[in-house]
Amino acid sequence: MKAGHSAIELPVSTLSGVGPKLTEKFAQLGIETLQDLLFHLPARYQDRTRVTPIGGLLPGRDAVICGYSKGSNIVFGRRRSLLCRLQDDTGTVTLRFFHFSKPQQLQFQAGAKLLCYGETRRGSSGLELYHPEITVLPEDAELNLDDRLTPIYPATEGLSQRRLRMFVAETLGRLEKTETLAELLPQALTQKMGMLPLKDSLLYLHNPPRNASLRELDEGQHPAQQRLAFEELLAHHLTLIRNRNRLRAHRATVFNPPASKIKAFNKQLGFTLTEPQARCVQELSTDLAQPRPMLRLLQGDVGSGKTVVSALAALQVIANGWQVALMAPTEILAEQHLESFSNWFEPLGYQVALLTGKTRVKARREILEQLQSGQTSILIGTHALFQQSVEYHQLGLIIIDEQHRFGVHQRLELRDKGSSVERGVIHYPHQLIMTATPIPRTLAMSAYADLDFSVIDGLPPGRKPVTTVVLSDKRRSEVVDRIKNICNQGRQVYWVCTLIEESENLQCQAAEDTLTQLQAALPELRIGLIHGRLKGGEKSEVMDAFKGHKLDLLVATTVIEVGVDVPNASLMVIENPERLGLAQLHQLRGRVGRGDAESFCLLLYHAPLSEHGKERLKVMRETSDGFVIAEKDLELRGPGEVLGTRQTGELQFRIADLLRDQGLLPEVKKAAIELMQNQPERTDALISRWLGEAEQYGNV
Ligand code: ADP
Ligand code: MG
Repeated sequence: MKAGHSAIELPVSTLSGVGPKLTEKFAQLGIETLQDLLFHLPARYQDRTRVTPIGGLLPGRDAVICGYSKGSNIVFGRRRSLLCRLQDDTGTVTLRFFHFSKPQQLQFQAGAKLLCYGETRRGSSGLELYHPEITVLPEDAELNLDDRLTPIYPATEGLSQRRLRMFVAETLGRLEKTETLAELLPQALTQKMGMLPLKDSLLYLHNPPRNASLRELDEGQHPAQQRLAFEELLAHHLTLIRNRNRLRAHRATVFNPPASKIKAFNKQLGFTLTEPQARCVQELSTDLAQPRPMLRLLQGDVGSGKTVVSALAALQVIANGWQVALMAPTEILAEQHLESFSNWFEPLGYQVALLTGKTRVKARREILEQLQSGQTSILIGTHALFQQSVEYHQLGLIIIDEQHRFGVHQRLELRDKGSSVERGVIHYPHQLIMTATPIPRTLAMSAYADLDFSVIDGLPPGRKPVTTVVLSDKRRSEVVDRIKNICNQGRQVYWVCTLIEESENLQCQAAEDTLTQLQAALPELRIGLIHGRLKGGEKSEVMDAFKGHKLDLLVATTVIEVGVDVPNASLMVIENPERLGLAQLHQLRGRVGRGDAESFCLLLYHAPLSEHGKERLKVMRETSDGFVIAEKDLELRGPGEVLGTRQTGELQFRIADLLRDQGLLPEVKKAAIELMQNQPERTDALISRWLGEAEQYGNV
C-alpha cells in the first residue's frame, strides 16, 4: 500500500537517464521507487581520501598509495605474472598482475609516478597488491583525492557502482531540497535512545565524510546504521505480529479431547510419554479446543519423540470425525511416518494413507476417492499433498514435519487448501509445525514471532550419547577395520558422502565411487547405496533392506539426513564433515544412538582444516545438545543458513543483522506494541518502507 503522492514514492524512471532498460535493472535489485533507492544502502566503503605511506601498509586492508616505479619484469612461477616495484620515502611494495598487455607493462617504466588503489596481501615477494587500480601521474600533478568515503553498493550487471552513485546523489539532492522522509518511530523512543533523525542517517550512510570511522561502518555499529537497523527490525517484527493477529481473527473448528480414545492409544504404545512430551501434548490439546486456528511450532532435539506428540494431536482431530494431513520433506520420511501412524491408528479403526510423487495413477485415484469421502482419516505425503486434485472431506489439522525445508508460502497454500465454509464463515485448519533443528532464541524471537512454541526439552530415557571422534581421512583404513568389527558384532553402519557444491549429480557420483572402494575393501559385507538419483521405489527398497538388516553398510548422500530411524545402526562415518553446517551434522548424527548399543560418529575430515573448520568440528565433539549447536551454528554461519531460508529470500535484511543487532530486539518488541496501540497507521507505512513487495506474502 504505497501512498504514491509523495515525491519519494515516485518511480526511479523519473531520474534523468533512467529508461525501461535501467528500470528493469533496478527492479532486479528490488528498487522501484526513489525511496527504495534511498534504502538501498552501501554494503561497504572504500577510503580513497588519503594516501597511505608504503611502509605503513597492512595486509588485508584497502589503501591508496603513491610512489615511483623501480621498473617491472615478468616472472614465470606457478602463473606467469608481471611485477612492478613501487617505492616512496617509507618503503617498497610489489604490484602483481596476472593479466596484462604490452602497453600496461610500458606504463611501469622506471621513474614513472603512480597512484594505486587496492588490497594489500602477503605474497611471495613480501607485501603485494594484486591488480590494483592504477593512475599514471605527470611529475608535477597535484593529487586529486576524494573528500568522502566511497560507498560500494550491492549492484548488478549493467548497473555499475558509478551510475548507482550518480542516481543516489541525484535522489539525495532532491531529498535535501524538497523532501523530508517521514519519521515513523515513536518520538519518545528516538529521544530516549538518542537516535539520529532518519534523513540524517541516510545522508550520512550514502556519503560518509572522510573522518568517518571505516571500522565502525564496516561493523555496522555507526549510530546511523543502528538507527536504520532498529527501524528495519521493527518493520519485520510488525509484519509478523500483524500476521499473527490476522490469523487469530480467523475461525477454526473446535476439537475436544477424546478421553477414551487417548487411553486406548496410550495403552498400545509400548512406552510412556516423557514429562516434556506430555506437557507439549497438553499444549496442543488446549489449542485444538479453541475456535481459532492453532499455529504452533513443536521444537525438540533429534530423537526427542516429536512424532508421537503429533500423533496425539492428530487423534484429537480424527476422533471428532475430521481429517489430518501430515507433510514430510522426503519420501523416505513420509513412508516411515506411514509405518508409525498405521501401527498406532489402524488398531483403533482409523485409515491412514500415503500419497507421494511416485504413487501410481490407479492407486492414487483410489486414495483420493477415499480421502474425499472421508473414509481416510490421515493422509501422509510429500509435496504431493498440495496438488490441485487433492480434495479433503474436512481437513482439521495440518502437520508439517521438519519445517525448515518448507517456505512460508507453501505453508499458506496448504492452509488455504484446507479452508472450509461453515455457516457462512471461513474456517481454517489448525497447523502444527515440527522442526528438528532447534531454533536459537534470537531467531525464535524475531523470525518466528508469529508462532506459538512448544519445546520437548529432554530425550526419552535410556538413550546413550553418541561418542564423536574427529579423524583425518588419512586414517581411512583404520576406519574400514572398525566398520568390519562393528558389522561382525551384528550392528549396522552408515557411510555418508558430502560435497561442497550443491550438485546432486556430483554428490551421487561421489557416493558411487565410495561404494566401489568399500566393496573392494570389505568384500564380506553386504553394502547398499542410496542417493537422490534413485527412483522413489528403489530408494524405499534400499531403505527397507537396511531396516530389515539385509544390508550391513549403507553408503548414502545427505538424503538420509532427516528422520530415518534404524535403531540397530550404531556407527556413522561422515566424509568431509567440514563441508556441512553444524545443524546438518547434528541431524545426521542423530541417525545413530537410537538403540541400546554404544554408538559412534566418525567425522572423517580432509586435511588441512581451517581454524574455523577445526572450531566447528570441536563443537560437534564436545556437545550433543541441539540447542547449543544451533546457537553455535548461528554464530558461525548466520541466520539464512541456519533457517534454510537463504534460497527463499525470507528473512533477508537490508541493513540489520540478527546476530549483531540482537541487543536491539527487546526494545524493538516494546516499540512494536507501542506503535500498534497508539499509532497503528504508522505500522503499514513502516512495513511498506522496508519490506515493500515481500510483505504481500504475509497475507495470513
Ligand atoms: P524425532 O523427535 O527426532 O522426530 P521420533 O519421533 O522419530 O523423534 O522418535 C524417535 C524414537 O524414539 C522413535 O523410535 C520413537 O518411537 C521413540 N520414542 C518416542 N517417545 C518415546 C518415549 N517417551 N519413550 C521411549 N521411546 C520413545
Ligand atoms: Mg522426526
